[in-house]
Amino acid sequence: MNSVNLSERLQVVADYVEKGARLADIGSDHAYLPCYLAQNKQIEFAVAGEVVEGPYLNAVNEVSKLHLEETIAVRLGDGLRVLKEEDRISTITIAGVGGPLIRRILEEGKQLRKRSGQETLILQPNVNERTVREYLMNESYEIVAETIIEENDKIYEIIKAEPCETRQDYSKRDLLFGPFLSKEKAPVFLKKWSNEAEKTTYILEQMKKAEQADRVKIDELEAQLSLIKEMIE
Ligand code: SAM
Repeated sequence: MNSVNLSERLQVVADYVEKGARLADIGSDHAYLPCYLAQNKQIEFAVAGEVVEGPYLNAVNEVSKLHLEETIAVRLGDGLRVLKEEDRISTITIAGVGGPLIRRILEEGKQLRKRSGQETLILQPNVNERTVREYLMNESYEIVAETIIEENDKIYEIIKAEPCETRQDYSKRDLLFGPFLSKEKAPVFLKKWSNEAEKTTYILEQMKKAEQADRVKIDELEAQLSLIKEMIE
């Protein structure tokens, strides 16, 4: 992967960014996504934010190699703390990190007034997509598009959300599977949830064998397993 040929996963994220956006790409190792978008004249401006020095320097090098310093500002820092009011960010992308971290970054960014709540959000959690969807719902965001793909034996979900006036009441099913993905039921979606059903069945068997079985957790997993079975059968 490089900033000319993105991975399929980042290409989906890139395709979700609207032309003329002012982008904040948080966790921007190598800055491949903003560099790709800047080279293709898809964005007006971007901040590539990185909290770890090595990836930050990779991003600085990539931007300078491509002479994109006028369009992309690479900044070292945690989450949305790197943003300034004058950046006038319209879209935030966070890809390749866990759902709970995405949630934390967005929440802290809100508390610090680094985001207004009007930005388009394009999120690709590596795990726990449900917590991201729950957060979006509670923040009065509407999920407007979702994609699921398989790349290098890993399955990824990409979620695009826009602020909305009336809060969306997503069902448990929508939050777990995704409102679009669960309607579409693509083969890769069915593969993901068949794997999850197997894993959950195994975990439940082990939990039930324990001397002091955690009844609350078991009930929770059983409810989830029946949702999954309903979805894939
Ligand atoms: N976004 C790129 C992608 O999807 O290919 C890079 C993903 S890489 C697996 C995750 C990056 O997020 C790492 O470079 C890591 O240092 C960075 N990161 C983790 N927590 C962060 C935070 N709180 N703020 C900014 N960057 C963070």
